[in-house]
Amino acid sequence: MNFREYIRKVEPYVPGEQPQGGRVIKLNTNENPYPPSPAVQRAIEDISPDSLKLYPDPDCSGLRQALAAHFGVKEEQVFVGVGTDDVLAMAFMTFFNSDQPILFPDISYAFYEVWANMLGIPFRKIPLSDDFRICAGDYACENGGIVFPNPNAPTSILEPVSFIEKILCQNRDSIVIVDEAYIDFGGESAIPLVEKYDNLLVTQTFSKSRSLAGMRVGFAVGSPELIGYMMSVRNSYNSYTMNRTALAAGIAAVQDQEYFDRTRNAVIRTREQAVLRLKELGFDGPEPAANFLFVRHQTVPAKEIFGKLKERGIFVRYFSKPRIDNYLRITVGTDEEMEELYAALGEILA
Ligand code: PMP
Repeated sequence: MNFREYIRKVEPYVPGEQPQGGRVIKLNTNENPYPPSPAVQRAIEDISPDSLKLYPDPDCSGLRQALAAHFGVKEEQVFVGVGTDDVLAMAFMTFFNSDQPILFPDISYAFYEVWANMLGIPFRKIPLSDDFRICAGDYACENGGIVFPNPNAPTSILEPVSFIEKILCQNRDSIVIVDEAYIDFGGESAIPLVEKYDNLLVTQTFSKSRSLAGMRVGFAVGSPELIGYMMSVRNSYNSYTMNRTALAAGIAAVQDQEYFDRTRNAVIRTREQAVLRLKELGFDGPEPAANFLFVRHQTVPAKEIFGKLKERGIFVRYFSKPRIDNYLRITVGTDEEMEELYAALGEILA
């Protein structure tokens, strides 16, 4: 016997590269190219170092109230965590305890499979259609829960709220988690449906549309019952997940609607432009609804383009996985960054 036998050995999630230092154009992890609202900086400056000797509010009431006011729900319907990754991990722990497999798309956010494996949750990956759509009918079977992103990642394809409602109607006895990490870039949120469906949990993040990936703030909205169970699980694990700075920054970000609208509209405009420019360069892909595009080139393999862009200091995401290994996922940057991308692609593809 050896202690190594008893060590938990897991296959971790591998995030996109985070190159440190040097000038690079980072279009590989779906961050927002714009800084957070100036109100965030003021909120951080207002934190007195003296207050840091005290633990933060374990209930995270200020941030939950700000989100509740924003979405027209009650504070007891909001859960906050250290990015959506933390929120989703808590939701998996809380809700996915059945012997039946949970269901998620085969091409989707890779962390779902990682959490399921780590937590010993049985799962089944449901293939997307040939054109990368989630088919509601495939989710009408016995299951231990359902989770998918909308818009999906890495495809950037959006489904309408009527689609979410169809999945919910087919699955009244399962928890359905809709991961809306990218919903603010053109989609309609399913949050209003939580009043009608007590089996729905919607998650969102401050990492994308609110430019706070480095602060780590995410949240879920559901019925008071579901959120209560999540709070109990969290409080059995770590009562102080959210630090004072993250709470203050989150409140400031959610309250600056004007800045939010301005920056997300800028991202959407640049994305619309990118669809046209990439088409001119010989790319095609599904209509994007997130802050990234999912594209392949007519003749040049994605892996080759990925490598040549990287040599030029332009990072995009390439997945060496079945069905998508000829696609690139390109985060929408500023107009200036995108011009550099188009110029580099022009050279590479010449
Ligand atoms: N869901 C999806 C679909 C994502 O792409 C991401 C970003 N990697 C997340 C959740 C997690 O985002 P965060 O933890 O930064 O809130």
